[in-house]
Amino acid sequence: MRVTADYHTHTVYSHGKGSIEDNVRAALKRGLKAVGISDHGPGHLFIGVRGEGALRRMQKEIGEIRSKYPQIAVLCSVEANIVDLDGTIDVPEKILPALDLLLLGYHKLVRPRSMRAFFWLAANLLCGWLKLRPAWLRRLNTAAICAAVRRYPVTAVTHPGLQVDIDTAALAAVCRERGTLMEINSSYGEKLDGYVRTALPLGVSFLCSSDAHTPERVGDFAAAFALIRRLQVPAERIANVQADGEERQQE
Ligand SMILES: [Zn+2]
Ligand SMILES: [Zn+2]
Repeated sequence: MRVTADYHTHTVYSHGKGSIEDNVRAALKRGLKAVGISDHGPGHLFIGVRGEGALRRMQKEIGEIRSKYPQIAVLCSVEANIVDLDGTIDVPEKILPALDLLLLGYHKLVRPRSMRAFFWLAANLLCGWLKLRPAWLRRLNTAAICAAVRRYPVTAVTHPGLQVDIDTAALAAVCRERGTLMEINSSYGEKLDGYVRTALPLGVSFLCSSDAHTPERVGDFAAAFALIRRLQVPAERIANVQADGEERQQE
């Protein structure tokens, strides 16, 4: 089994360490056929892409890099944040058509869009610190993420259940219905076992990614592969892997 694409990588446009070109060169070194530049959405208080202008500059830079490296697909993406209970994300609607992929992840410390969103995000922060998991908060979290998956063309939900308590089965059902993938994130390893265990029997498909914040980690799927082996996730359920021998059969 080998991964053919890494759609979740960060650069200096958010809090990654390398440039877009550094990530592309690292992906080529790993033999990938595609790499996604998926920096944090602009709604994050500290690590997001700096506004719409920066998103436009990224798109332009990716266009130039594509002509320089025609041997690999370089995809323009964002790891969007949820900024309200109705599932609103922090990527302006007019930017969406220009994206090749849209990743969606719940992150703490994002700028709320409304007062009720402020209290919701604050409740998650507080309950996280106090290690409390009230059912009402889990319902709100699940409804918000499911609404975002229904409302936007989300390619994949990143690290489901990390930083937030959700009903995984409910989210997996919506993802399956919408054709949205659920991420097996190689930066978190065993922390994601619980959600994969729940989602696997529900027929949803997965996406394997590095969530690299340095060029060296682009295409590093070691922890994701360990999870896949541990939980026996079949290769055909993972959108961006090729089973051994598959490539040869295609040629
Ligand atoms: Zn993330
Ligand atoms: Zn990320």
